[in-house]
Amino acid sequence: MPWSITVARVSGTDVRIHVTFLLFLVWIWAAYYRQGGTPAAWDGVIFVSLLFLCVLLHEFGHVIAARRYGIKTPDITLWPFGGIANLERIPEKPSQELVVAIAGPLVNVAIAAGLILYLWLSGFGAVPANRLAAIEDPANSMIVKLAGANIFLVLFNLIPAFPMDGGRVLRALLATRFSFGRATELAAMVGQGFAVLFGILGIFTNPMLIVIAVFVFLAASAEAGHAQLRDVSRGAIVSDAMITHFRSLSTQSTVNEAADLLIQTTQKEFPIVDGAGKLRGVLTRDAMIRALKEKGPECPVLEATPAQVPTVPARATLEAAIKALQESGAPAVGVADPSGRLVGLLTAENLGEMMMIRAARPKDYQGPWRRRLG
Ligand SMILES: [Zn+2]
Repeated sequence: MPWSITVARVSGTDVRIHVTFLLFLVWIWAAYYRQGGTPAAWDGVIFVSLLFLCVLLHEFGHVIAARRYGIKTPDITLWPFGGIANLERIPEKPSQELVVAIAGPLVNVAIAAGLILYLWLSGFGAVPANRLAAIEDPANSMIVKLAGANIFLVLFNLIPAFPMDGGRVLRALLATRFSFGRATELAAMVGQGFAVLFGILGIFTNPMLIVIAVFVFLAASAEAGHAQLRDVSRGAIVSDAMITHFRSLSTQSTVNEAADLLIQTTQKEFPIVDGAGKLRGVLTRDAMIRALKEKGPECPVLEATPAQVPTVPARATLEAAIKALQESGAPAVGVADPSGRLVGLLTAENLGEMMMIRAARPKDYQGPWRRRLG
C-alpha cells in the first residue's frame, strides 16, 4: 500500500503506519499545545501513541488467533481511525471466525484489567467508573486514561456492525443457523441500520459520527458483496463458469489484427495462444489502444501484454480460480485441459454475470452444481 511506512516486522507480519497517522500526531501535538503548552502537547502525543500501541496489540490478537487456523497476516496498518489487520482470508468455519473476531477486543479487556489491577495494587485503590469515562480530562493520570480508553475500545468494537469486530461476531453467530451469504446479508443490514443511526446522531451531536457512519455503511456493503461472491463460487468448478465461445490471437498477430477482432466481436479480452494451443497472454482493450498509440499498428500482440496470466485446470474449484484472478491482478484467468490447451476463459465480468443469474433464480432452484456435488 502506498503512503504507508513499514516500521517493524513481527513473526511474518509487517507493521505499517499510514502517513495520515503521522499527520494526526502532529495535529494532536498542536491541539494540546494550544490548551496547555509544550508539556501538555507531549503528554497528548505520548497518550495517543500508547493508545495506538494498544490498538496494535488488539490487531495482533486477531493475527495470533488466525494463525491457529493456518491463516497468515502479511501486514497490519495503523490509520488515524484505528488499525487494520490484513488477513489472508476469512476462516471458513463460523466458530473460527468468532474466535478470530473476539481475540482482538479480548486483548483490550486484558490490558484494561491489568492497568486497573496495577492501580489497585500500587495503593490508589479501586478506580471509580466516572474517572475511567473521563478520557479527555487532563487531571486524570495517564494510566487511568489508558484503562478508560481500552474499555472504550472494547465497547466500540463490539457494536454489531461491519467493519467492527462485533459485525463479525454477529455474522459468525448467524452463520451457525443460515448460509454464510445469508448471514452476511443479515449482519450487513444490521450494520447499515447502525450506520444510519450514527448518521442521524451525528447531525445533532458530533459531525465525526457522520464520517464514521459513511465508513460503516460502505464497509457493510463491501462485505456483503464479497460474501455473495464466495457463496456463488462455493461448490462450483471452473468449467461451470468459464467462457467457451471466444476468438483468440496467435503469437504472430499484430495489434492491428487485434483491433479488427475488437470491432467484429463483443469481446474485450483476447487470449493469445501459441502453436501448441497454450495460453501466452491476454490482450485487453485498454492495452490494445495504448499499444496502437505508442507503438503503432504493426506491434506484435505479445509485446502489448506485459502481465503474466495464470492458468487453472477446468476441474479446479471456482474459488481457486477467483483467488488466482484476484491475486494475479490479471484481466482474465485461462482454463486449460489436461494437455495444457486453452479451453476457456474466466473474467471478472463473466463472474459478475453469473452472480446476477444466481441471484435472480428461484430460491429452491439448486442448479447443476449442487446436484453434481450432492
Ligand atoms: Zn478488531
